[in-house]
Amino acid sequence: MTDWNDLLPTLRATVGARQVLTHEDPAADLSAYEQDWRRRHRGRALAVVRPGSTAEVAAVVRACAAAGVAIVPQGGNTGLVVGSVPDASGTQVLLSLQRMNRVRALDAANLTLTVDAGCILQVAQQAAAAAGLLLPLSLASEGSCTIGGNLASNAGGTQVLRYGNARDLCLGLELVTPQGEIWDGLIGLRKDNTGYDLRDLYIGSEGTLGIITGATLKLQPQPAAKLTAWAALPSIEAAVELLGMAQRQLGAGLTGFEAMSRFALSLVDKHYPQLRVPLWQDHPWCVLLENSDSESEAHARERFEALLEAALAQGCVSDAIIAESLGQAHNLWQIRESISLAQSEEGLNIKHDISLPVSAIAAFCTETDALLAAEIPGVRLVNFGHLGDGNLHYNVQAPEGGDPAAFLRGQESRINHLVFDSVRRFGGSISAEHGIGSLKAETLPQYKHPVALALMRRIKAALDPQNLMNPGRVLANPTPKQETP
Ligand SMILES: Cc1cc2nc3c(=O)[nH]c(=O)nc-3n(C[C@H](O)[C@H](O)[C@H](O)COP(=O)(O)OP(=O)(O)OC[C@H]3O[C@@H](n4cnc5c(N)ncnc54)[C@H](O)[C@@H]3O)c2cc1C
Repeated sequence: MTDWNDLLPTLRATVGARQVLTHEDPAADLSAYEQDWRRRHRGRALAVVRPGSTAEVAAVVRACAAAGVAIVPQGGNTGLVVGSVPDASGTQVLLSLQRMNRVRALDAANLTLTVDAGCILQVAQQAAAAAGLLLPLSLASEGSCTIGGNLASNAGGTQVLRYGNARDLCLGLELVTPQGEIWDGLIGLRKDNTGYDLRDLYIGSEGTLGIITGATLKLQPQPAAKLTAWAALPSIEAAVELLGMAQRQLGAGLTGFEAMSRFALSLVDKHYPQLRVPLWQDHPWCVLLENSDSESEAHARERFEALLEAALAQGCVSDAIIAESLGQAHNLWQIRESISLAQSEEGLNIKHDISLPVSAIAAFCTETDALLAAEIPGVRLVNFGHLGDGNLHYNVQAPEGGDPAAFLRGQESRINHLVFDSVRRFGGSISAEHGIGSLKAETLPQYKHPVALALMRRIKAALDPQNLMNPGRVLANPTPKQETP
């Protein structure tokens, strides 16, 4: 049985009374920690605890383990699958990494950056840029998400096509186990075959196996020039064709390839008219391309123009512009990054973060669009995403004029199954980059191979036998057996 009276004083003694927030303290405001980004869930924490060092994290974990109290780690709380907020029981400790926000070291010769887990992604990017280097992880949430959260959710973003996702950018981790031990695995090695890859096990584990407290990340040289182009296309098939051409002609220079359907862009145009979305009205799809060049801007432009001319001649591009200035490029990216916000302005919606083999994307869209239109009259599809990675945000907006809340209550589960069954038929995944959290924990067993799921359960039980690390996330808690009278 948990003794809160013992635990809270221990936590206060460990991290300082000001760093333990509880509902009993009228001056403490826990709301930002308890509400998820998408406002799908508001939890209630026993306490919000904000350690300032790895040793303090370890001491907090040991105290919670001794008291049998579950811990929910939280970085920037920008996750989209309800994984970083407590449940409603009022019995979980929310462990915020916010105060652990230091850049620890930059090794320019080794092209590595070591940071605290609570370091904001943008701060880490800026530290790399100040040394003339590039941390190639780029998300619309980069101003508030943290490196620990990026690694715990194996974040993707707009440059995966060229540099890989967060997993590919991480060389070493420092972490605290569910028993409160500290593992210092902050190595900057590109080769280290000394047994099971614990780093990769923890990346993408969404706080269910322990707490990441620090990371060593891979850097790249800054490109000499970066150019952005915006192309209008007749179809999703044309977008896939253009991707192939761009990969062949630009090679490693192709660092971004984002596709946006006309309806997705119409929402940006409606809610953020000041962004002046180009070329969207007369074309079913637009694509944003980024070309990073190690030579010069003139070289980048020449290669971009050659690609777009060839694509126009071939008919897979109907019209195109190349940004003439950094300001224009920034505006084009802002349009892409505003789609999610425009969707929220339009009302509640159902989000799907799916991935497919690139070769299957066009057929998937044709078949699934038709299926949803037939099953749910008036349904509006907000389809956009990192096409270069086979990753679509295949989102569903309620029919115009309807009640979005009632739509979600009545249709969400059915729509999810229609989409996910289609994803399975085309050999895809139900979560490309956002993770599972609690939002998809019940759904995962229907789509994950049963042997893989059983292995995941065994790993969780071996490392966290008390099930105290972010319980019910990724792997749903078992339903309690009914007592027989
Ligand atoms: C506008 C917007 C755009 C986004 N775009 C993208 C995108 O392009 N690609 C993408 O992949 N995601 C995207 N996301 C989702 C989100 O930003 C990422 O998942 C991000 O990596 C989460 O980082 P965070 O610090 O906010 O983590 P949180 O939301 O705080 O946590 C996410 C998960 O990680 C766990 N966790 C957090 N910190 C730690 C830690 N130190 N140790 C162990 N576990 C931890 C939490 O318990 C939770 O399960 C977007 C979100 C928003 C709001």
